[in-house]
Amino acid sequence: MGKKELAALFSSNPDRYYKVSLFDREGFIRKRCSMCEKFFWTLNATRYFCPDHENYSFIGRPPTNKHLDYVNAWKETEKFFRANDHEIVRRYPVVCRWREDLYFTIASIVDFQRVVGNQVVFELPANPLVVPQMCLRFNDIENVGLSGRHYTGFCMIGQTCNADAPGGYWKDKCIDLNFGMLTKGLGIKPEEITFVEDVWMGAGAFGYSLEYFVRGLELGNAVFTEFEGNENNYRVMPNKIIDMGAGLERFSWITMGTPTSYDCCFGPVIGKLVDMTGTDTDRAVLNKYFESISLNLEGKTGGVTSMRELKLLIAREMKTTEEQLNTFVAPYEAIYTICDHIRTLVFAISDGALPSNVGGGYNLRVILRRALSILERLGWKNIIRIEDIAELHIDYLKQMYPELEEHRQDVKTILQLEASRYSSSRERMNSVAMSLKSSKKTKDLTVDDLLRLYESDGITPDFLMEQGIVQNVPSTFYTKLAELHTSQVTNQTSKPIPGLDSLPPTVSLYYQDDSIRHFDAKVLKVVEGRYIILDQTAFYPRGGGQEPDTGEIDGIEVAEVTKQGDVILHKIEGRSRQPDEGQTVHATVNAKRRDLITKHHTATHVLNSASRNALGSWVWQNSAFKEESYGRLDITHHSALTREEVKNIERMANRVIRDNHPVIIKTYDRGDAEQQFSFRIYQGGVVPTSNVRIVNIDGWDIEACGGTHVKSSGEIGLVKIVKSERIQDGVVRLEFVAGEAAVNYMQQLDSQLASIAQMLGSSREKIIESFDKAMQDGEDAKKKLRAMRRVISLPIAKSISEQAKKLDSGIHLYTTYDEELDEDFHITIGEKAIELDRNLVYLALISKGQGIRVIVFVGEAACNKVKAGSIAKQVSNKLGGSGGGDNRFGQGGGRSKEMIKEALLLAEGVIK
Ligand SMILES: [Zn+2]
Ligand SMILES: [Zn+2]
Repeated sequence: MGKKELAALFSSNPDRYYKVSLFDREGFIRKRCSMCEKFFWTLNATRYFCPDHENYSFIGRPPTNKHLDYVNAWKETEKFFRANDHEIVRRYPVVCRWREDLYFTIASIVDFQRVVGNQVVFELPANPLVVPQMCLRFNDIENVGLSGRHYTGFCMIGQTCNADAPGGYWKDKCIDLNFGMLTKGLGIKPEEITFVEDVWMGAGAFGYSLEYFVRGLELGNAVFTEFEGNENNYRVMPNKIIDMGAGLERFSWITMGTPTSYDCCFGPVIGKLVDMTGTDTDRAVLNKYFESISLNLEGKTGGVTSMRELKLLIAREMKTTEEQLNTFVAPYEAIYTICDHIRTLVFAISDGALPSNVGGGYNLRVILRRALSILERLGWKNIIRIEDIAELHIDYLKQMYPELEEHRQDVKTILQLEASRYSSSRERMNSVAMSLKSSKKTKDLTVDDLLRLYESDGITPDFLMEQGIVQNVPSTFYTKLAELHTSQVTNQTSKPIPGLDSLPPTVSLYYQDDSIRHFDAKVLKVVEGRYIILDQTAFYPRGGGQEPDTGEIDGIEVAEVTKQGDVILHKIEGRSRQPDEGQTVHATVNAKRRDLITKHHTATHVLNSASRNALGSWVWQNSAFKEESYGRLDITHHSALTREEVKNIERMANRVIRDNHPVIIKTYDRGDAEQQFSFRIYQGGVVPTSNVRIVNIDGWDIEACGGTHVKSSGEIGLVKIVKSERIQDGVVRLEFVAGEAAVNYMQQLDSQLASIAQMLGSSREKIIESFDKAMQDGEDAKKKLRAMRRVISLPIAKSISEQAKKLDSGIHLYTTYDEELDEDFHITIGEKAIELDRNLVYLALISKGQGIRVIVFVGEAACNKVKAGSIAKQVSNKLGGSGGGDNRFGQGGGRSKEMIKEALLLAEGVIK
């Protein structure tokens, strides 16, 4: 049974599913759409079709006397629901840290969904509640700014409650409230409102819903999530959920009736950009145009499929050309698009996301570059800076989202950085564009070609539009691009060990008391002769980036500890003897190893917060690894770190260590922990249980973490960053040592320094001075050598000319194999020798490391007979290598030292 069948099933029993008390009380009648056969409820006896086929008739004539801009639309909503006993919850981050399957928050209900095991559960911080949830969606980018109502970021008013918990209500009250919101809150007359029957299917739960419309505009959708399971096998949920989502942008739009919803949702930002850019268009023409777009888009009245087609149609209607029309509307489309994109970036960056090429960050870079490219195309890049637009947004939105003010500087920093990266990459982009133009293949550019250009050179279709290479962005471009970047989840789970199902969960002694290093336990089972399973254990199993403990069980060496389900497996080395099942054994954890791993683990938390404090609020842990000898922390950051930044982080971390903050570990109900400590706790990823273990380095860092930790930060002793490296776009890796490992590292550095000092015949204190001097001595020696070579080159060259074999051809041949002097020497001499003797051929084979260098000079007279390049080539080939050159000078080399004699003979033969 699919969505359609489910809809038919629900609609076949409207009294059970859809009829709410309001319908009876107000006299709503149920009708079937004469066009699409959907059922809907209306007060209007003469309405025959559902609002899907209705024009946006509110444009230019809103159905209310209240005219509410964006922030005021929210204030009105907030006031209404507060008066009706709803708790107003602050928005959740747009970066969805609590769901592994989502990068961005895409709907208000996502705020309250948690995954436990394989199931999605709902956790509400209050009941009932309303949240103004910013949601990011990147599936309609090409329509944003053009259609009048598409956004990459929008506010979903989420009215949510658990119907079966205290304070909860079900559909009658929900629709009463929505009706009240529209009529009393927004001032819309009851007869304007239509409710349409629909269904909603989510992961593991579904229900029926009533969508409500006014003058063709869908304002909200009240979903009654009553069933869990799938459509073939389901039952009523013990805690039914009301999930009403309404678009705040639409609430404002319906009351304002502006040509586009952008005109009323960006506060004063549009107006300011219009002023700044001097955009000056007859507003009446524009209104008419956007009205037509809004009325016609998505085939409400006709079968128009693309924006382009629609534009042509409107141009014809308005008795103008597409070109003419574009000169009117393009600046407005640009302003709308930029406004949307920058607003989305303001929220995303405030919530800790970075534009990059990976994960969800790629969507942010796409829209950022799109905005920059549009500014460039319209010649506005010197008039408006994107960070200024961000400031305008924050100035307006902080009334509603005060937290944006805190991140104003972070947002500006990231936008400036990205803008300068973009402008420096434009040079390369320009040259690609030039070669595209000259190749004249631009007419045949397919969507795949455009994708390749974006992926390899970062060239957006908007840039190509700016260059006049393409006329428009193909509608499938951004969808296909998103598909390319949808992360492919690789299943790397190792093969499970069979036969563990019947075993009880292993008691984790390391959570009860992490100082236990010796313990007794009962052997429950030995699997495959290699895995010992105990009833309880103090061995920490591999997990959360922390390496496992090692040690002994009854003298048998434990090499590896892993967890499968709730059972902990101790893997024993090679062909060890095995303990008997049922026997009580004594076990010992390798204390030194555990101690060092633990210090590295707590140090990871210390460094993570130090990095955030030193660099910016966008720093999150990307991943981490804690081993006995070192630790590794990958953080999200936009650039490679400077030495000064690394030092700064290190200083901060060591101060926290010296200040000896207590490390408090406590288990919380997950919802409480999120509310109390915010989503910052999810540094190590999502926690799939309803309780979370919170590791709190008091006054410094709070994270959800299942690892082992010291009791106070002072125990770490010392932390030293040994390496920092930008390992991918947006991720920087820090490698560090802590505790005794840090002391060992320092001592090792120290002894290296001592031996260098010794080699230089100096002391450690004067090592730099001595090193400088040694370098200088080397340089001086080289200089002297060069001078010497020049001085002796003349007498040597003379003697060479005398020593040379006088061949019948008139050529004087000199060959030598040299194991002592270098290439520079032979070049100096060879040059001088052919100057003195114009008939000379000078061939030197020089031993150099594992190979032989070949140098050939041919005097001016000899050049008529033999060429230096050719000799070098043949000799080098003989030596198993290659060479070449011009008539006068040739060089090459090879590795076959045993062929030296043959090579010299060959040369002689060639020259003869
Ligand atoms: Zn219909
Ligand atoms: Zn941790």
